[in-house]
Amino acid sequence: MKKIKQRNKKIEKERSRKTSQFQTVKGMADILPKDQNWWKMINKVSDSVAELHDYYFMETPILENAGLFEASLGESTDVIEKEMYVFKTKGGDRVALRPEGTTAVVRSYLENHLGYFSSPLRVYYMGPMFRYERPQAGRYRQLHQLGFEIIGDSDPVYDVQIILVVFAFLKEMRLKNFKIRINSIGCRVCRPNYKQKIKEYYRTKKLELCDDCNERYEKNILRLLDCKEAGCRILVQKAPVILDSLCQACNNHFRTVLELLEDNAIVYEPDPYLVRGLDYYSKTVFEIYYDNPANALAGGGRFDYLSEFLGGRMLPSVGVAIGLERVIETLKSLEIEPNLKLKSRMFFAAVGDNAKKAAVKFIDQLRENNVAVVEALGKKSLRAQLKIADKYHLQTVLIFGQKELFEEMIIIRDMKTGAQENIVLSKMTEEVKRRLR
Ligand code: AMP
Repeated sequence: MKKIKQRNKKIEKERSRKTSQFQTVKGMADILPKDQNWWKMINKVSDSVAELHDYYFMETPILENAGLFEASLGESTDVIEKEMYVFKTKGGDRVALRPEGTTAVVRSYLENHLGYFSSPLRVYYMGPMFRYERPQAGRYRQLHQLGFEIIGDSDPVYDVQIILVVFAFLKEMRLKNFKIRINSIGCRVCRPNYKQKIKEYYRTKKLELCDDCNERYEKNILRLLDCKEAGCRILVQKAPVILDSLCQACNNHFRTVLELLEDNAIVYEPDPYLVRGLDYYSKTVFEIYYDNPANALAGGGRFDYLSEFLGGRMLPSVGVAIGLERVIETLKSLEIEPNLKLKSRMFFAAVGDNAKKAAVKFIDQLRENNVAVVEALGKKSLRAQLKIADKYHLQTVLIFGQKELFEEMIIIRDMKTGAQENIVLSKMTEEVKRRLR
């Protein structure tokens, strides 16, 4: 009999060790229970910062018509050319998994006339984005972004408010010493002149450019400034800077943004070659990074023309998207712990069938009274149950057996001191609450 039991135990152990034949799709990751406090903290901090800074929550679907992003992001951007998950539905619609959040927010603004709700509209969103990029550390095919947008106002004061809200979020997440790079990429009036100057500059250097940049030369010349290849980085250093080409309006706008940052004691790094990967930006663009510009935590800027790309009227706007995986990874690398005020928890142990049945009701009663209860009722012995209480470092434990059921009492045990006390069942909730306080 003992042998059979041992063999069964062994089989069970092996079975539980076996993993499934399926794994996550390449470049996509599970959010695991061990990381719950990070994600809970992100939720709490984003809600609280948004409330303080007066942003409304909104959410758009994960699927959109593919044409939406093609209209907004620019046909020759990496996202559209290589990274978007596009497929046909059974009904024949061409849809895309959203690669970013801003376009859908503006789509919704136009569709739902959100300008009537508030002007400018200040909103925030959070959720997964999908990009078919080459997966590597800090670069995934499913990533989560928290975005803040101010839609419907061209005042530079809003560019700075967007930067301030990201700073507030990162600080509240306990991150310090992050940096901001900032630039202006001009508007419809001045950018074409600058593009022309850049084209002139690179015309004689095409042989020194990487293959991608040779393609970009024809299709999206500004992205040459953003190339990470060593050879291209050297060429960039002597390229004309856009600040010399900005029109009066863009110049004034940018100057005011920088002055406001200084007034708010924000140290910035002007980067005349900063351009963003998405085509809809104009005027201010910025990136916030930690340690190294390659570790960008957030990116944003003005998108004054995006609404027009979608067929709407001119709607000057500014926004930012924060990469949440990058924020968590950076905090982890600094050995910073999530700072969360969690409910104090207690443990409920029950022994014997009848006591266990009654325990379900008492546990529910405690939870209704806002007491967080951990139990392991599936385990038969008291010893096995108390082991779990120990594992989770739970100090207050209720123990309920046949005798207690009969006497309408319950044992309350302090795991730290080992002291036990019998209390009448009707005083249970009150006593537990007193101890957890
Ligand atoms: P973007 O939407 O490209 O402006 O990116 C905003 C932020 O999202 C970046 O600064 C990163 O922190 C994050 N991010 C962008 N792409 C990825 C990716 N493939 N994997 C993880 N994080 C990303």
